[in-house]
Amino acid sequence: MKKDRHNLSKSPTVEEIPLACSDELAAVEFFERQRWGNTPCCVKCGSVEVYQMKDAKTGQRSKRFLWRCKDCKEQYTLRIGTVYEESRLPMRHWAYAFWRACTSKKGVSALEIKRHCQISYKSALFLMNRIRFAMAPDIPTPPFSGVVEVDETYVGGKPRIRNSSKRGRGTPKTPVFAAVERGGRIRRRVVADVTGKTLKDEIRKVVDPRARIMSDEHSAYRGLDKEFASHEHVAHGRREYARGEVNTNTAESSFALVKRGIIGVYHNVSKEYLHRYLWQFDFVWNTRKMNDGERTVAAIQSAEGKRLTYKASPNHA
Ligand SMILES: [Zn+2]
Repeated sequence: MKKDRHNLSKSPTVEEIPLACSDELAAVEFFERQRWGNTPCCVKCGSVEVYQMKDAKTGQRSKRFLWRCKDCKEQYTLRIGTVYEESRLPMRHWAYAFWRACTSKKGVSALEIKRHCQISYKSALFLMNRIRFAMAPDIPTPPFSGVVEVDETYVGGKPRIRNSSKRGRGTPKTPVFAAVERGGRIRRRVVADVTGKTLKDEIRKVVDPRARIMSDEHSAYRGLDKEFASHEHVAHGRREYARGEVNTNTAESSFALVKRGIIGVYHNVSKEYLHRYLWQFDFVWNTRKMNDGERTVAAIQSAEGKRLTYKASPNHA
């Protein structure tokens, strides 16, 4: 008998997470529920004729939390075929790291995880990188629609000179592009440059042609009116920041959040890793209507979907 893949546990409770963060058995059972719902199954053959192995002396679950399949005789644990298999870190630390990454508005640093879980910095970084990868978005479906703001900024490096007329373009900081559905979803990406070709490619990837686009006067956005329902822009150069609903205020405040988070929590992030932090910031934004428990479970289930594909690739999605 095969298990229905969609029969996942949908009712995680915020109450069960703190226990999962402190007790290893509770943590293992919490992650088992996220993976298998109420119907645990064999990782090898898919049979549901499986049972928990017991310790002969104590009668409790075996030390490694093994399962055994009656059909194919396979012995396995929750970790098999997941990112949790790559390390021996206790599951309660995974629970804690997921929880913190999903419930702190600005994110959580590996240093904090190291301190709170009393694990090495290397292990904490491993946890957080896998979690950020779990949060990495797919190309949004359906594409962004309605009013969509597009904007670009520069992150990192030294602060630009005050009162400089340059907006940061042409400086050695990392260019980041954002498309935001007003009142809806966001996607922020590290981009190679802020040329029309690069930014328009990003826009085409995620925005529905029927959308109305709002931007500033950056020349890269010229011509979008030919591909989308409309394109309006504010002239920041003339100190015009909004003309009624024509503005990029949502995109701009989303950049401010990233910058504050990166300086305040992570004390700067190198160019090479910035994309991972953007995944995390976008995930939190895009799940803002969920409660903390739902968001944590969404991240865990997303890790499941990506369990064998971890690469430190900046090109993901
Ligand atoms: Zn089996």
